[in-house]
Amino acid sequence: MILRIILFLIFAYFGIKTILAVVRYFKKSSQENQIPGAGRPTITNEMIQDPVCGMYVPMNESVSHRSRQGTFYFCSEECKKRFLDGKTH
Ligand SMILES: [Zn+2]
Repeated sequence: MILRIILFLIFAYFGIKTILAVVRYFKKSSQENQIPGAGRPTITNEMIQDPVCGMYVPMNESVSHRSRQGTFYFCSEECKKRFLDGKTH
């Protein structure tokens, strides 16, 4: 009788472990499926204005510069250089 109880407890233990492992596996796989959509930045195609030449450029194609005043976006490296030269002088 005691042996049956012990066997039952062992089976219950491994049964719960297996169920938890399966649940974890499905949770993990469902999270992985969500990452490609959720991880993508949503504002990549936002149009920003170049402060040097005044041109509008998509944010993902612009050249960015971070400073104490904030992040600036430029249409090209040339405009970024011009902006930085103007600031230092
Ligand atoms: Zn420009």
